[in-house]
Amino acid sequence: MKKKQINTTRIAGLVRELLVELGEDPEREGLKNTPARMAEALAFLTGGYRQTPKQVLNGAVFQAHMNHMIIVRDIEIYSLCEHHMLPFYGRCHVGYIATDKVMGVSKIARIVDCFARRLQIQERLTEQVAKAVLEEVQAEGVGVVMECRHLCMMMRGVEKQNSVMTTSVVLGSFRSDSATRHEFMTLINR
Ligand code: ZN
Repeated sequence: MKKKQINTTRIAGLVRELLVELGEDPEREGLKNTPARMAEALAFLTGGYRQTPKQVLNGAVFQAHMNHMIIVRDIEIYSLCEHHMLPFYGRCHVGYIATDKVMGVSKIARIVDCFARRLQIQERLTEQVAKAVLEEVQAEGVGVVMECRHLCMMMRGVEKQNSVMTTSVVLGSFRSDSATRHEFMTLINR
């Protein structure tokens, strides 16, 4: 289900119009290439629409018979909020208990990027990452915790520069078994 390629020429045209509406002169030296640059940046920052977790994993799922918790902490997140199209950023901790499949270590971070590079709300991003990990390795359970700062809150609106939003999603045994959930929360240091 590859989504259609993005038309950066058309986006650059729209950015140029936006600059005019904002009272700027898109012909002045500093702004001349801004529409093209912003179109490129937006194509990258929304690249997740043109990816699926399966493509990102690219077969890096391995057989391994084990039943202990695998944790990747402090994965960097950069995303755009869907309400203002302003960045939110922070970190994410992912844990899962494998049944008979594990994924390459770097792949969890790639799955996070695949969903972060879309217009998002933090709650949905957390849930999508958890569900993708659960599905791709058929884990017994998954836990995801995200801590992010939202520029739409920091630069405008309530102007709360120091607030961090935390979201968490637990699935499978992380939900049903409080000892498992507790182990996860302890290991990610919360
Ligand atoms: Zn926002």
